[in-house]
Amino acid sequence: MAEHFQLKCRECGKLWGNQARSFCEECLSPLEVVYDLEAIRPVFTRKNIEAGPNNLWRYSALLPLPDGYQATLPTGFTPLVQARRLGKKLGASQLYVKNDAVCFPTLSFKDRVVATALAAARRFGFQVVSCSSTGNLANAVAAQAAREGFDAWIFIPADLEPAKITGTQVFGAKLVRIAGNYDQVNRLCSQIAEKFNWGFVNVNLRPYYAEGSKTVGYEIAEQLGWRLPDNIVVPMAGGSLITKIRKAFNELIALGLVEEKKVKFFGAQATGCSPISDAVKRNLDRFEPQKPATIARSLAIGNPADGFYASRAIRDSGGWAEDVSDADIVKGIQLLAEHEGIFTETAGGVTTGVTQKLIQQGYINPSEITVACITGNGLKTIDAISQEYTLTPAIEPRLSVFESFINDRMVAVAGN
Ligand SMILES: *Cc1c(COP(=O)(O)O)cnc(C)c1O
Ligand SMILES: [Zn+2]
Repeated sequence: MAEHFQLKCRECGKLWGNQARSFCEECLSPLEVVYDLEAIRPVFTRKNIEAGPNNLWRYSALLPLPDGYQATLPTGFTPLVQARRLGKKLGASQLYVKNDAVCFPTLSFKDRVVATALAAARRFGFQVVSCSSTGNLANAVAAQAAREGFDAWIFIPADLEPAKITGTQVFGAKLVRIAGNYDQVNRLCSQIAEKFNWGFVNVNLRPYYAEGSKTVGYEIAEQLGWRLPDNIVVPMAGGSLITKIRKAFNELIALGLVEEKKVKFFGAQATGCSPISDAVKRNLDRFEPQKPATIARSLAIGNPADGFYASRAIRDSGGWAEDVSDADIVKGIQLLAEHEGIFTETAGGVTTGVTQKLIQQGYINPSEITVACITGNGLKTIDAISQEYTLTPAIEPRLSVFESFINDRMVAVAGN
């Protein structure tokens, strides 16, 4: 069977076949994967998908995989849960959480993009895979490279969270800490990619990487019973995920798997690094790069590669963007944990805080179906939240001691 996809320039439309390249040589615009949807239509059906494996490979027909690619890593198909208690708190009657805090194998949605990027790395014959990362991508590349037998070189800003550093090293990856912010790390990686024959998942393999994000959108639609939500709130770093969920919804509509609906896309950022939400709110044509200063390290990209396309997608959809302070990110983490029992990282605090803000501001209609995308796990950013809690002194393991302890606590609570 001939391949039904190839790279296409997003601006001039030139076709580039399949190769490890992310920019058009003619006009320097980004490339994306396009599909021959008519050729795929007969196989990409509800029935075939539902008969597929319980992971993101059930959508393989619309992923850029080499012919005969045998994927074995059960990534994706994370829970979509109705958030009744959180919804009640926020005044929203049909609120759902897409929970990629439990994505396999490294507990963030980045496992999806790495799954499709490594398929491309294999196809193009790379021995070494690499990335610039704000943390979660580092974990995902390191883990999946170990399993697939690639060597991994990972580039990060030096001051990432300890759990994200250890959670990269444990897989045997070579970790390169750079004295600089993510945008500087990423620029260096573009230069290395020109000189070394390495597959950088988010540089020269970026179009293939980005397609993995579509599976979040396919899953949400399938888990809603082959329906699209009315609103979706998506955290933004480079701005890729939000544009690819939109692409996924549009493909499902084009292939007749869901009824057409104008889904409003809402982008979420931290105020300390908000180039995309700033561009949307000020109605700018181009975003202005920023110097990141926020606890939401996984979203701290001041010069987002897909920032322009993300802000355009948000506006075209009739949605909006917002950002929240570091203090509100912490409150967002607590809000989700205390109402839904889901412990998310700082990026999820951003999503939750922004969802609350958008409902309060009236941008999100509280009686419509709204999905909040939780993209990473709280155990990876424990320092952001642990100082909110104090430890009580340890007590003797005796009932009488506990009885006086609880008495004191009750008095303390009553006195509050
Ligand atoms: C990378 C990341 C995002 C955003 O991804 P982009 O596609 O770069 O916008 C969101 N949440 C988490 C936890 C991430 O690691
Ligand atoms: Zn071009």
